[in-house]
Amino acid sequence: MIDHLTTLALILALIHFGTPLTYYWYAKTKWLKKPWNIKTDKNYKPNITIIIPTYNEATLIKDKLENLRTQNYPKDKIKVIVVDSASKDNTTEIVEKYAKKHPDINLKLLREPVRTGKAHALNLALKHAKGDIVFIADVDAKWPKNALSEAVKWFADPKVGAVSCLKKPVGSKIRDTEESYRQYYNILRVAESKAYATPIFHGELAAFRKELLKKVGGFPTNIGADDSHTATKIALLGFRAIVPEDLCIEEVIPNEGYFWWRVRRAQHLIQHFIKTLKEVRSYKVAGEFKKILALEFFLHVINPWLLLAPILLLAVTMAMFSSPFAVSIIMLGLMLLGIKRYRTWVTQQLYLIAAALRNLRSKEIVWSKQAK
Ligand code: GDP
Ligand code: MN
Repeated sequence: MIDHLTTLALILALIHFGTPLTYYWYAKTKWLKKPWNIKTDKNYKPNITIIIPTYNEATLIKDKLENLRTQNYPKDKIKVIVVDSASKDNTTEIVEKYAKKHPDINLKLLREPVRTGKAHALNLALKHAKGDIVFIADVDAKWPKNALSEAVKWFADPKVGAVSCLKKPVGSKIRDTEESYRQYYNILRVAESKAYATPIFHGELAAFRKELLKKVGGFPTNIGADDSHTATKIALLGFRAIVPEDLCIEEVIPNEGYFWWRVRRAQHLIQHFIKTLKEVRSYKVAGEFKKILALEFFLHVINPWLLLAPILLLAVTMAMFSSPFAVSIIMLGLMLLGIKRYRTWVTQQLYLIAAALRNLRSKEIVWSKQAK
């Protein structure tokens, strides 16, 4: 009986660690080396709209506008829309002042009288969008000078429906965990993109073909990961939704409230994968994308529990039967925490478990801002 419980715990743990490792290995060896199979064109410069959603961004908004103004993309082809949801600071005044000072950029400010979430604001801005491609640009992300041109060139191929970026964490309190988690994550994003599409997009830079945005009914307002879900729906319609390997955006990591920040983001991803599972039946899914969706659903929604379950099982066997076998496995698990990658992984599972539980109470569609 004791050994059965311990064996069960070991099997669950093996699935927990084995699945992501196998997927990672598979993605790296089978997909990452593939050619993109997309015809890019550096001279393709369509009209575009960049939407900046803001809520209490007075400290960063000016830098962001300046960051966009200095992109190496023809200015007359860019429309910028700042959509603010009743900020309590002076974000909108700063934007108005900036617009007056820089008449060379086509800048529009929209105000929502009440804050009902980012996606709701994005949908309002979408009604005013011009051109072929719509970009989402979160305020706290700094784009390299060539970000726009690098992202746009992919849309020269009509197969491409959406493009996003890789992320590099920066900030005074940047943690080891954040960085090594990103490495693993970034490789998966690119590999999935080469295979077909990645279901995880980043609001720091997310670009969509406008006609497809309209087709999928804009951004979903009942879940948090509006960017990822929209990209996934575009991929389900038969278009590539990709993250190129050379488009990397710096993201400022919050100084305080890091734990809840990560939990909130995990909550949003879980919401996205559950919603995708419900919707996927009404689409004919491209072969590789089916695998990608299934794996990412498993990794975000189910797999974290396959870590918690063996821990509980072992703890029970240890406490009730003082099984030396169980004790030694628990000790091994604790010792492994000395290894950075393992620690990062386990921490990520904790975020996902906390997120799944928190989702039962609140979806965090409207969230409080972390200090950066
Ligand atoms: P995180 O990157 O997931 O931590 O989310 P942020 O707090 O950085 O928000 C991403 C972007 O959306 C930022 O530019 C915010 O100002 C903006 N944002 C967040 N909530 C709202 C909202 O309710 N309305 C609008 N218009 N923008 C929002
Ligand atoms: Mn952010």
